[in-house]
Amino acid sequence: MKLSEFVGYGDRLKQLMRSVQAGRIVHALLFTGPHGSGKRTMAAMFAQAMLCKGDEPRPCGVCPACKRFEAGSHPDVRTVRPEKKTIGVDAVRELIDYLAMRPYEGGRHIAIIEQAEKLTPAAQNALLKTLETPPGDAMFFLISDAPGAILPTILSRCQTVRFSDLSVEDCAAVLARRGLPENRAGMLSGMAQGSVGRALELDKDNEYMALRERVLQSLETLSGPASVAPAATMLEDDKGTESTILEIMELWARDRMAVQSGQTPYQTFDQKRLEAFKLDGRALLLGVLRLRAELSSNVSWPNALEQMYFHLI
Ligand SMILES: [Zn+2]
Repeated sequence: MKLSEFVGYGDRLKQLMRSVQAGRIVHALLFTGPHGSGKRTMAAMFAQAMLCKGDEPRPCGVCPACKRFEAGSHPDVRTVRPEKKTIGVDAVRELIDYLAMRPYEGGRHIAIIEQAEKLTPAAQNALLKTLETPPGDAMFFLISDAPGAILPTILSRCQTVRFSDLSVEDCAAVLARRGLPENRAGMLSGMAQGSVGRALELDKDNEYMALRERVLQSLETLSGPASVAPAATMLEDDKGTESTILEIMELWARDRMAVQSGQTPYQTFDQKRLEAFKLDGRALLLGVLRLRAELSSNVSWPNALEQMYFHLI
């Protein structure tokens, strides 16, 4: 993967990459942003670029250092991630000991901390001093969906790089460059609301597609009191997928609202279907939000769904 493949981020990241390689930057970068927005891929690319011994633009992808990095066997890289629910102080001490050794290939050590918000407070405190004056010029990459859980003392020692989801068009362009057919790329990026990572998950998830179709058909069946029971029956067997059903309905409701007010929906590939949809987007959205709240208080799924459908018609 190359930096230029990060549509919409290219220039900013190129600049940051130059600063990193010129040593004009703090020793720690924090990559934040929603799940699937590309922060982990980008952190890895930065790390690889720093270890690359090939020609510009780095990472070259072909030198021995790049090959080792991509195979996960570069001796000067250490990745720390939660083992159960947290990253404890022992894992951090082990990392600090590792960084105190001389880099195997004579360059710099790279430490990557995934889900950095899972560092316990003790672990964060143990990390603090090393982050400020890393031994041997080591470079830290912290990655987090939820930087709010990271101590301010840690945050203040990191330069933050924020990722947001791409526009649906940019996301589709990224997917197409990864070899997905254009139609499918457009469809997946709409369903994933511009999140490349989410779109790639959906690409492999055949059940999701089938479930989505059933949810939409169920909603489209609704037309009067007599239609409620059959429409709800279409979804009653989907025990365990209630939250996915609600996500599908929520996105559909938001897109229906967009279409009703003349704006562009996420799921542009379904524009015609959204226009032909009979229910009001706002009413559907409110129903979904209410249903989600009810489900967390132990109301049974088929009953709650039927109730919502009655309200809708
Ligand atoms: Zn290289």
